[in-house]
Amino acid sequence: MKSRVVILSGGIGGAKLALGLYRTLPADALTVVVNTGDDFRHLGLAISPDIDTLVYTLADLADPQRGWGRRDETWSFMAALSTLGGPQWFQLGDGDLAMHVERTRRLADGETLSAVTADIARRLGVRATVLPMSDAPVRTRLRTDAGWLDFQDYFVGRRCEPAVSEIRFDGAADATAAPGVLAALADPDLRAVVIAPSNPYVSIDPILAVPGLRDALADTAAPIVAVSPLIGGAAVKGPTAKMMRELGATASAAEVARRYAGLIDGFVVDTVDADAELPGGIRRIVAPTLMTSLEDRERLGRTVLASAQTCPRTRPATGRGT
Ligand code: GDP
Repeated sequence: MKSRVVILSGGIGGAKLALGLYRTLPADALTVVVNTGDDFRHLGLAISPDIDTLVYTLADLADPQRGWGRRDETWSFMAALSTLGGPQWFQLGDGDLAMHVERTRRLADGETLSAVTADIARRLGVRATVLPMSDAPVRTRLRTDAGWLDFQDYFVGRRCEPAVSEIRFDGAADATAAPGVLAALADPDLRAVVIAPSNPYVSIDPILAVPGLRDALADTAAPIVAVSPLIGGAAVKGPTAKMMRELGATASAAEVARRYAGLIDGFVVDTVDADAELPGGIRRIVAPTLMTSLEDRERLGRTVLASAQTCPRTRPATGRGT
């Protein structure tokens, strides 16, 4: 049986399902393509929040309560920074700080983000392949009622309070996919491509904005299955539903599926959304999708894989080969 699986992922929601798949599949069978539109520089450091969430989660180092950062973290650095009058709006735990310092050092020495990520993930015992979507900087920016904001200023600094009216991905048009991304999608041994239950606007769209990604998805022979990040019209965490309403869309699983129409073959909705009317051609899979426990993550991982197995290809053929 074909064994390899690719998941496109943002941070917290995506990492939950990635972990479920990682624990269900042979350890080296999973490739995670991670959003880097949230990346930014802070205190001179190169910070890649979604990559870190994925790496910490798969390495079993993540803080289970917060969902970001490392568990059993200490905060001496932030306390010392505070006494010096340094910025406090973005929290950097002591162990986490080592990640950013080391990544910054290696990038400054000329290594690529994908090379640094692969090596750090390996050192932390992660056997999945964790790939940034691109080695080139792509920066998500949001037009809001408080003006154009950088992603972390909106997300962390202003706790997603400003109303969003437009989103752009600076640098995306000139970016190329990181080494390994397009090859993973073209792998004849690919069993499924999964679009994680991540924020479609600011976690998945930046990945899809990297030139070549949409074509590679269209051309892959494997079924493509997305999981709804909304349950009963609400986000489990974060601004997805609020953002959808502000952008003039209905906050519903069906609306997320409409955004992915033409791109996916199957869409997993929660049991409370069993009646969701999906666009023609997208197969509806109904399953519990709230991932609270580790078992929930593994169960949803198995469901996604099983549904991909029986999901006929319904998205349009491109005529480019497959
Ligand atoms: P971020 O980059 O850290 O914001 O994380 P993501 O974009 O990957 O994830 C945010 C999305 O994950 C939100 O829309 C949440 O509703 C969704 N999410 C979080 N936990 C769960 C869960 O247990 N089940 C489902 N279906 N969605 C979830």
